[in-house]
Amino acid sequence: MRNKIFNLIEAFEKALFPEYSCIICGREVCDKTFLICENCKSLLIKPQGPVCKICGMPIHENNTICDDCKSQKLYFEKAVYAYLFDKKSANLVYGLKYSSKKYSAKYLARLLVAPITNLPYFDCIIPVPLHQDKIKLRGYNQCELIANYLSECLNVPIINDLLVRTKNTKSQTGKSKSARKENVLGAFSTKEKLNNKTILLIDDVFTTGATVNECAKILKENGAKSVYVATILKTIN
Ligand SMILES: [Zn+2]
Ligand SMILES: [Zn+2]
Repeated sequence: MRNKIFNLIEAFEKALFPEYSCIICGREVCDKTFLICENCKSLLIKPQGPVCKICGMPIHENNTICDDCKSQKLYFEKAVYAYLFDKKSANLVYGLKYSSKKYSAKYLARLLVAPITNLPYFDCIIPVPLHQDKIKLRGYNQCELIANYLSECLNVPIINDLLVRTKNTKSQTGKSKSARKENVLGAFSTKEKLNNKTILLIDDVFTTGATVNECAKILKENGAKSVYVATILKTIN
């Protein structure tokens, strides 16, 4: 009985104060900066050895470019990320994307501050846009929430309404590399010119890079000088 009461109190506390529990597993946390418990933190993976100079994919040789980046025309200069994608780290973004944990955007933005120090100067931050119909369904664009907090952390302006998704694309999940490319082709446009600006583009997960590459292409066609990319997670293909 006593246990049940304790469990009930704990459930109430979590509901009332979500910002006291780990954004991955829900356990109580001591580290209020990133809101990730020690156990989950120890399981998140960053590459230890050499990585691709462009996309950050773990590779065997130092100072080189991975096969994926070599085999396609890339429109962004460099991509950075906080952690590699796996079952554990996926929960970082799934909570924000599928479980309405909007508050977690603030902590995800903080995870990006360190990897971004590896990038040169940029003038503004642009989130990968969602189609209006998807925003209506979810209520928000998760990348925009992260970008908003990042803009605050770095004191760099965010431009929310310049890049738009004109095509309501199907989910990229489960699609092959070429199908992903095809799916996002022509999906974006810009509302105005970018005047030689250097952009930091924000997305949640870098899988094949098809989405951010298509965005970078459109941004450059419309006057952007350089495009850098930051995502919370990067999958290993
Ligand atoms: Zn945890
Ligand atoms: Zn690469």
